[in-house]
Amino acid sequence: MDRLTAAQDEYASKFSKLSLNSAAMQNLSKTLTLALLAAVVISACNTAPKEKPMEENILLQEWTGDFGGVPAFDKMKLADVKPAILRGIELHLIEINAIADNEEAPTFENTIEEMERAGAALNRAFTYYGILSGNMSSPEFREVQAELSPLLSEYQTKIIQNSALFARIKTVYDAAKVQPLESEQQRVIELIYKEFEMNGAMLDATQKAEYAGISTKLSTLYTTFSSNVLHDEENYVTYLNAEQLGGLPDGFIKSAASIAKDKGQEGKYAITNSRSSMDPFLTYSTDRELRKQVWTNYYSRGDNGDEYDNNTLIAEILQLRRKKVEILGYKNFAEWRLQDRMAKNPENALALMEAVWSASIARVDEEVADMQAVADSEEATLENSSADRSIEPWDYRFYAEKVRKEKYDLNSEEVKQYLQLDKLTEAMHYVAGRLFDYEFTPLAEGTIPVYHPDVRVWEVTHKTTGENVGLWYLDPYAREGKRSGAWANTFRSHTTLDGKTNVLATNNSNFVKPAEGEALLVSWDDATTFFHEFGHALHFFSSTVKYPTLNGGVRDYTEFQSQLLERWLSTDEVINNYLVHNKTGEPMPAALVQKIKNAATFNQGFSTTEYLASALMDMKLHLADPENMDVDQFERETLAELKMPKELPMRHRTPHFGHVFSGEGYATAYYGYMWADVLTADAAEAFAEAPGGFYDKELAAKLVKYLFAPRNAIDPAEAYRLFRGRDATIEPLMRDRGFPVVGEE
Ligand SMILES: [Zn+2]
Repeated sequence: MDRLTAAQDEYASKFSKLSLNSAAMQNLSKTLTLALLAAVVISACNTAPKEKPMEENILLQEWTGDFGGVPAFDKMKLADVKPAILRGIELHLIEINAIADNEEAPTFENTIEEMERAGAALNRAFTYYGILSGNMSSPEFREVQAELSPLLSEYQTKIIQNSALFARIKTVYDAAKVQPLESEQQRVIELIYKEFEMNGAMLDATQKAEYAGISTKLSTLYTTFSSNVLHDEENYVTYLNAEQLGGLPDGFIKSAASIAKDKGQEGKYAITNSRSSMDPFLTYSTDRELRKQVWTNYYSRGDNGDEYDNNTLIAEILQLRRKKVEILGYKNFAEWRLQDRMAKNPENALALMEAVWSASIARVDEEVADMQAVADSEEATLENSSADRSIEPWDYRFYAEKVRKEKYDLNSEEVKQYLQLDKLTEAMHYVAGRLFDYEFTPLAEGTIPVYHPDVRVWEVTHKTTGENVGLWYLDPYAREGKRSGAWANTFRSHTTLDGKTNVLATNNSNFVKPAEGEALLVSWDDATTFFHEFGHALHFFSSTVKYPTLNGGVRDYTEFQSQLLERWLSTDEVINNYLVHNKTGEPMPAALVQKIKNAATFNQGFSTTEYLASALMDMKLHLADPENMDVDQFERETLAELKMPKELPMRHRTPHFGHVFSGEGYATAYYGYMWADVLTADAAEAFAEAPGGFYDKELAAKLVKYLFAPRNAIDPAEAYRLFRGRDATIEPLMRDRGFPVVGEE
């Protein structure tokens, strides 16, 4: 199955290298609205090379206990966050200055390796910061975040603009060009040098000051952008009464009732302004006016013309980004950003998007025609009987579901009966066992400190050797203060720099917690996303790199591993053993499986178009002249030029496009999901054709060896060729989506 699922809403787990920082910090994601500095660290090294005085702040302290030490989530207090981050910054800068001021001649060991080690205390503080930001946010925390945001930007600037440090890096880099180091070291020095260069390390003093000023200003704007979106998500809840529930599934009604109760509106039903609430409501509600209202609330986030409106802010962000890269000598942000990505430049990224776009909007026309036929045939007794029946954006999901039932006889609710979260978890562990030789053993409650009682922890070991690989934390349920979507993270990454560390990885989702004793049933898309995030976790666990920097990722490549793992959900082994009915325990019937497979290309017009429209908009916004840009008008005109079908919106409209404007991680990089999907579809065909299919031993070994374990220690294009024996081609992606392939009938 290949879809643009909800998985794509998840932001960069945190691997993509933080655009500014040196070794240790990595970009977490949208909620860490801290812009570039949405930085949480995945590379904390848990063995302190030297004895240091114990810090008083608990968030800075070495992690203790079993499993190589674990974060003290049970002792985490909001009041400790700001002092911990500030002290962590101070400590890191002391270490950096010591490296820069070293009187010995620069070597890889005394410069680069020391940089890789530095910042461990701050990394630990950022682990807690990441949880408070993504999993347990509050207005109080957001204030701290806003205060820290410019300070973090300044701190990163201090490292990048440390000329003594950069001079040492350059010396090592220049020497390595003449006399290459061993391959991991060579890759590290190239990545670090590039990072400094891309972020202005070679500018003169005046330029540096200007550049730093822009970075700080941007970091503040990113925070404001996110807060505005969050405000509109929290403040546009639609409350329904018992007469307004037509068409809605029981599970949805129950959870809407419980959310309303939590919000002090007992007896009503709350439709929150989030994708997880909006999407099913629009799919099932028979009340067209309400659908319109819920749709409008959702797609107007950040665009309500009030003090929380993001349009002007976006124009300012675009101008500052342009200025910033112009100082560095680049034409536009996209050119600067993409130089070290797989796509290399905006032209390559646009070429891929445009190659798929026309097939995608042509498919929308067909989907709309199918839906219109259903709408026209409806009895005049329905709510929309007297109105114009042409398909509007708030009708798309509703009629698509009807077409799905009619054409494929596939009922999402029926499928759900076989998708229990606990069983899916077991299924993922089974797949990890077959492909990676991992075993997951649940740890009893209380073994490991967690920040919320709903978080569960498993120990991960190698099946054959029994060796500990790490711990897997699962935080499955939605709660107030947790950001929407699904994502993966690490608290500690693999490194062998100072002895081998194990990996502490986490998966996060927003499932509505079931009533006591009831199975949590999820949709096929949600199951796919669940597998997707687990793919990120496996990518973390399987790392074999020595240097923390090499755990970083290339944005248009790091979604590939996770997207690929989605494919194991529909393998026979998983279906027969884990996709079992929640009441009868019977495996999903072959006929239903066949229906799901038949319907795999269903609604691809909608999902590909909504995604691509956002990805194209992201790129075009950054290629356009930002002076005096009217963002709202630009969005409308660009969509018109693209011939965007009027029946659906972009997946993320510009005023709430957090990937792109709450930080820099996905700016001119949203295309990356499709770039990675080209690889995904191509690699999936390799498994489909292998003698042992998706569990082929030889191919699985290659998968782990070349595509997972090296992380960023090998150039991604080269890694892929090692796996496949050639470059990926676009045809498998087109076939997956049911789009015509040139040269095929
Ligand atoms: Zn992902």
